[in-house]
Amino acid sequence: MSTLSFPGKVVALSGGIGGAKLALGLDRVLAPGQLTVIVNTGDDFRHFGLHISPDIDTLLYTLSGLDDPVRGWGRRDETWTFMRAMGELGREGWFQLGDGDLAIHVERTRRLAAGETLSHVTDFLRRQLGIGSVIVPMSDDPVATQVETDEGRLDFQHYFVRRHCEPRVTGIDFAGADEARLAPGAAAALADPDLALIVICPSNPYLSVDPVLAVPGLRAALRAGRAPVVAVSPIIAGQAVKGPTAKMMTELGRVPSAAEVARHYAGLIDLFVVDEADAGMDAHMDAGAGVRTVAAPTLMRTLDDRMNLARIVLGLAGVRA
Ligand code: GDP
Repeated sequence: MSTLSFPGKVVALSGGIGGAKLALGLDRVLAPGQLTVIVNTGDDFRHFGLHISPDIDTLLYTLSGLDDPVRGWGRRDETWTFMRAMGELGREGWFQLGDGDLAIHVERTRRLAAGETLSHVTDFLRRQLGIGSVIVPMSDDPVATQVETDEGRLDFQHYFVRRHCEPRVTGIDFAGADEARLAPGAAAALADPDLALIVICPSNPYLSVDPVLAVPGLRAALRAGRAPVVAVSPIIAGQAVKGPTAKMMTELGRVPSAAEVARHYAGLIDLFVVDEADAGMDAHMDAGAGVRTVAAPTLMRTLDDRMNLARIVLGLAGVRA
């Protein structure tokens, strides 16, 4: 697989599945160590006494090739004996943990209990899985995404997995974010003098990217250096490729469109990449949003699609200079 000669380092902000698709493309076209992915940990929670970091795990599995491309989450060739045995003990099965997947949760929980930070544990795991790109949590401190709904305030996984995103969303809160400190690896990557590009992956802006942006100092760090900030739209032709992004936008009183996502990131980004299906979007933007857009094929079905979009995004690195 061809790596690209790209002068400098790259930081990507990512949630889970949508973000990991572009992160994989970037990982494959850049050299080992060139990419640092700062990952949302607002979805983290404890289950069966284990510390689960769903978005970090999606990155770990996707970048190591261990992901299950059919199911779309977890590990490939997974078995489910543990969940069946837990069911026999009367434990609920709404959040599935595969037998192979369990290894990561057990090891992460053990190391955290022994005093390691989530950053250290994540770095250990990505090295063990042979991943050349750096993966860092947004913070080593706990931040919990909570969703205000017509059924009351729900912890993120209760909204997302247990209730299948069915409740109507009225607001989102990131508990603990105000006190959270940016993870040292995230701060260092953003302050690196060789940093040439910051990419906001096509993740859910409200549930996956906003918690990262809510960590004090992150927004300022994005704008502090000379590296341009380029975001890729997770909305194509008014629809989410997967998940509740468009549904949530409607519930929050916004029009589900790439233009609305651009407005959400206005002031933070230098350039917004929309799908070719939204190429005429500029005409629909409020004059005040003032976000420059560029159209590209952003639907990533294959590895080639992911690498192609990565190359296009890297080609935009000159926009702020
Ligand atoms: P989650 O944390 O697992 O929900 O995943 P993310 O927040 O990272 O990604 C969810 C978003 O990814 C959704 O809004 C999807 O529309 C978007 N998405 C998924 N696949 C693609 C794709 O191939 N292209 C684009 N542009 N967006 C995608």
